[in-house]
Amino acid sequence: MEPGRRKEGFKSIWCLLLGFALSAAVILAMCLWSYRNLPDTVGRMLTDSEKEDVAKRNSSLIEYVYLSPNADFPRKGRIRKLTIHHMAGDLSLEELGKNFSDRDRRASSNYAVDSEGRIALYVEEGNRAWTSSSRENDHQAVTIEVANDELGGDWHVSDEAYEALIALCVDICKRNGIEGLNFTGDKEGNLTLHKMFADDTECPGPYLERQMGHIAAEVNARLGGKQAVP
Ligand SMILES: [Zn+2]
Repeated sequence: MEPGRRKEGFKSIWCLLLGFALSAAVILAMCLWSYRNLPDTVGRMLTDSEKEDVAKRNSSLIEYVYLSPNADFPRKGRIRKLTIHHMAGDLSLEELGKNFSDRDRRASSNYAVDSEGRIALYVEEGNRAWTSSSRENDHQAVTIEVANDELGGDWHVSDEAYEALIALCVDICKRNGIEGLNFTGDKEGNLTLHKMFADDTECPGPYLERQMGHIAAEVNARLGGKQAVP
């Protein structure tokens, strides 16, 4: 190689290395910045008094709390919707909390209900959970994962989980000034489904999807509106 060309070659390599170093520094700075901005209650067991404080800001029906770092703090806008999901599994609240504590999964929900009807909180209502493949929806919605007692097929959920889901929906509506739920079958209603925002998911599964009209009617009846449809 001629000396002039060799010099050009070295220059390009140095430019490339400098580019890599700068990109790495920017990524590192972004990671550090996002960690520093996480509330100190995420990713660890809370003390009893911290749990009491959290319950005051959220549903008093919760029996388990493990706050996930996978969320936007705080959410943008006010809560206007509920989005019901299924776990696609029969996980305990503790197992799901462990999944949501993994930052690489980039997933979370505000609440979950297990097959025994116990309720957990992973992302406080004031923050946006990463659940429904839609930033816009999740900034407006409280999201709820429900455990399945049948894996595959209809993705059935237990009667205990179903009853706890209704009670949780009523509680969320009451505290957030939502006067009633309206399931329209599309994203215009205030009861939405994950599958409305992503083509590659069946979530919340056929069983829960068929119950949406009943869930809305039952919640509305308990909120003091129209009678529930039997
Ligand atoms: Zn889902």
